[in-house]
Amino acid sequence: ILVVFDGIDGAGKTTQVRRLEAALASVGERVIVSKEPTDGPWGAKLRASATSGRLPFDEELTAFIEDRQEHLATKVIPALEAGAVVILDRYFYSTIAYQGLRAGGISPIEARIRRNVVEPDVAYLLDVPPTLATARIQARDGAANHFEKIEDLIQIDRLFREIAQRDESIVRIDGSVSEQAVFDSLLKHFVEGPFK
Ligand code: C5P
Ligand code: MG
Repeated sequence: ILVVFDGIDGAGKTTQVRRLEAALASVGERVIVSKEPTDGPWGAKLRASATSGRLPFDEELTAFIEDRQEHLATKVIPALEAGAVVILDRYFYSTIAYQGLRAGGISPIEARIRRNVVEPDVAYLLDVPPTLATARIQARDGAANHFEKIEDLIQIDRLFREIAQRDESIVRIDGSVSEQAVFDSLLKHFVEGPFK
């Protein structure tokens, strides 16, 4: 099973990924957790660009796509074939939303990003108001945060909604409630749906 968590920064993806991993491991499931961008060469290039200056648009988009193809081929697909539950912290939805912001909309880039991906069994879109996300990022990163401007988060949030409207794999989860309440609702969905 391929399970994806996506959403804006500060939505709580990493926290919920860890909780689902622990819950599944405790019932004896084989679980592989991974993230995008990866720690491979393409992902490293993308992370470095966050501090050293952003890559030109097309180079950046290509790096995300190449990073994903390598990740799928070397890690995700082998794990799925071995019967593991694979949980991803961000996937191609993030690329559509974040690079869509830069492209001035999702339509110029969506088809290219969706080419040759593995469709997830479920993609949880953690939905939090950008103001709450910003407060969480501040609390977490303080002055170390150099990405997320509220104006950008508002636009990216809007793009995620646009993607979710047209994609049946996406399940929206209210991420604005407590960590435990978020986990309860996603676990309920998961055991009744993809994991049944
Ligand atoms: O997932 P994580 O919180 O580590 O995200 C790292 C940063 O990379 C995010 O804050 C986001 O601004 C950026 N990002 C991006 N384009 C993507 C995915 C993430 O600019 N496709
Ligand atoms: Mg995170």
